[in-house]
Amino acid sequence: MDIPAASIAKPDTIGWRLENSYSRLPEALFAAAEPARVREPRVAILNQRLAVELGLNLDAITLESAAALFAGQVLPVGSLPIAQAYAGHQYGGFAMLGDGRAILLGEHRTPDGRLVDIQLKGPGRTRFSRGGDGRAALGPMLREYIISEAMAALGIPTTRSLAVVTTGEAVYRASALRGAVLTRVATSHIRVGTFEYAARRDESTLRALADYTIARHYPELTDAPQKYLEFLRAVADRQASLVARWQLVGFIHGVMNTDNVAISGETIDYGPCAFMNAYDPDTVFSSIDSGGRYAYGNQPHITQWNLTRFAEALLPLIDPDQGKAIAVATEVLENFPARFEGYWLAGIRKKLGLQTDEAADAELAQSLFEWMHKARADFTNTFRDLSSGVLFPDPAFQSWNVRWQARRSRDGERSISAYALMQSANPAVIPRNHRVEEALSAAEQHDDLSVLHRLLAALASPYETRADRSDYRDPPADESGYRTFCGT
Ligand code: AMP
Ligand code: MG
Repeated sequence: MDIPAASIAKPDTIGWRLENSYSRLPEALFAAAEPARVREPRVAILNQRLAVELGLNLDAITLESAAALFAGQVLPVGSLPIAQAYAGHQYGGFAMLGDGRAILLGEHRTPDGRLVDIQLKGPGRTRFSRGGDGRAALGPMLREYIISEAMAALGIPTTRSLAVVTTGEAVYRASALRGAVLTRVATSHIRVGTFEYAARRDESTLRALADYTIARHYPELTDAPQKYLEFLRAVADRQASLVARWQLVGFIHGVMNTDNVAISGETIDYGPCAFMNAYDPDTVFSSIDSGGRYAYGNQPHITQWNLTRFAEALLPLIDPDQGKAIAVATEVLENFPARFEGYWLAGIRKKLGLQTDEAADAELAQSLFEWMHKARADFTNTFRDLSSGVLFPDPAFQSWNVRWQARRSRDGERSISAYALMQSANPAVIPRNHRVEEALSAAEQHDDLSVLHRLLAALASPYETRADRSDYRDPPADESGYRTFCGT
């Protein structure tokens, strides 16, 4: 492939150790790309703590250099920038896609030996941009920064956010907005949609992608008999675990298209996502999800649907006999609800402070959710309040509480207190929509990042109880009509 001029690396001193293994895959899987020149890059926020984890020393360069770096104006040593090809089912319909507004700079080797993608989101057009401008706006990029970092602090697998820089240029959406570039860090950006794309090319591209992905994310399967079937099973398992974690904190992804499902099992693509306040399984925030396809209560089912698209892509590798391939893949897919239920049950037991397993625990949890739904109880605060011994006067709650206390007493004396267990599983602070919006509007409209920094500090230790953070626990006075938008 041609190496774009901008990738003739200028040395920098922050400690990049970039590799370009994805660029050695069959050429159909990517296209060379070059970040656009921008007028005036300026740092909005740098994630110092993440930089340290990655072995990057941001103090070694000036803010101006950091702005140029994270706007793609100076490429890190060893970078070979590409846009990745992929396809995807969006709201059920198939489309050829690709990185239309993202460029992968390369894979960075961390001090502890992990390999992570360094990707710029919003750096200008690529071969896959179609009608789009390849750009991103400040608000949505800061939104991704806030929510991805909150998810990481909650202990939920996620892509990370290393930096947001403004470009000094406008992007035109419904109105003119400030342009920005997010630097996203992921264990990789390989998606279900990447496999859907490769499967529609040819079998050798598909096999190369599968072998690469197994080596990178599931190395223990490299020599497994029936390794592609085991790969499907392992990906299904990580997705079951991930979506259970979402359900257990009230996270709604909002746009669970197959191009937004990472094979690594990380949460990816924070567009119209949001956390639920009052418990209601039908909750949808996304302005374009009018049918409720990606509603809170539908997320496990949609994950199974997405994994079915993944299985279809893998069929030719699983068995040359298509009938046999379908039979074994179907068995894995049919097992998904039980896998999900297993992870969810383990999680809900912690949330309820239960340290043994009883068959009736699922039903006990379900009846709490029924009460929460009727009472329009706040999802996060209900569990956090229960974790500190707060009970609710409502008679329906009281009768549930009698059953819960009886169940807890059967656990007997345990080494950890039930309340300590519950507090480690029930966050006090989540990125509530009204707090996120408040931080974004101060940043966008008044260039004031202080609101955002305070919010990030509260979100960084979500399981701690601190009096000075109590106002981050309050749900909004009224959020009827609150809508989120795809961050394009
Ligand atoms: P998303 O909704 O962010 O997951 O994006 C879906 C698809 O649209 C991906 O292929 C993106 O690369 C592409 N896309 C989104 N926004 C833009 C944009 N401003 N310019 C070009 N492509 C875009
Ligand atoms: Mg996407």
